[in-house]
Amino acid sequence: MRRKERACRECGRIHTGGEDTCVQCGAPTSANWLGYIRILDPEKSEIAEKLGIPTKGKFALRIK
Ligand SMILES: [Zn+2]
Repeated sequence: MRRKERACRECGRIHTGGEDTCVQCGAPTSANWLGYIRILDPEKSEIAEKLGIPTKGKFALRIK
């Protein structure tokens, strides 16, 4: 079974439509990733600041 959700190898953004390239930075995506965080308000989120995530959305924690 092919996993539909793919994570960007550069910024970690998760694409639920199975996109091959990241809509945010244009880097290739990977289907092999583990765990994710959801950023709702990047300006107020300490996790977003720590990980350097500037926009809201779902981001993979580990990408293979
Ligand atoms: Zn990206």
